[in-house]
Amino acid sequence: MIEYDQKNKQILSSACLSCSDPYFQPGHSSLPTVGCCSYSPIISLFEIHRMVKQNDTDFFINNIYNNPNRTVSEYHIIIHAHVHPRFQRQNTDQLSSIEKADLKLSYSICQFFERKNGCSLLPSYKNATCRSFICSSIEQQLDDHTQKQLLNWTRSIQLETKTFNTYHEKALKSKGLTLKNNVEAVISYLQTVKES
Ligand code: SF4
Ligand code: SF4
Repeated sequence: MIEYDQKNKQILSSACLSCSDPYFQPGHSSLPTVGCCSYSPIISLFEIHRMVKQNDTDFFINNIYNNPNRTVSEYHIIIHAHVHPRFQRQNTDQLSSIEKADLKLSYSICQFFERKNGCSLLPSYKNATCRSFICSSIEQQLDDHTQKQLLNWTRSIQLETKTFNTYHEKALKSKGLTLKNNVEAVISYLQTVKES
């Protein structure tokens, strides 16, 4: 039901081809089923490093940094999902902020999701969440051994990214550089960092 793609360090499941997880169903029958790709991915230094090391700085600048619907923070960029206009027609007055966020998610589609092929990003550009998230519907069908494997794979994916980001955020901070104040210098810095 799940497999580990060692080369790209990502967990894959054939169940995602026809997602049936109740939490991730679309908010209206006219919307496509995109499962957990209703998410707004956060692109961290780890992914930016991979892009610039693969000579894909143009991709980073055009599709991430200058994306028209993104939020740039000091060391990461959120690529906001497209939210279907039907969401604005929903009455959310009585909903808590969590319920409203859940409803919004059901009308959302990640900008990188393509109906035919799913994720259009290169696997190496997908963040740790996208490479490791497996919903509870799948998880509860796994035997004990596979659940342990899943936990180990997830920890290893998250740890690699966290270790990289913590180290390089600190280094950039000591130089006074952020994605907000000098993206060119951050790119130049990341280009000097060896690939792991
Ligand atoms: S991980 Fe679960 S929620 Fe996400 S697409 Fe696959 S089946 Fe759906
Ligand atoms: S980046 Fe790819 S895997 Fe992640 S939410 Fe978007 S389409 Fe899905």
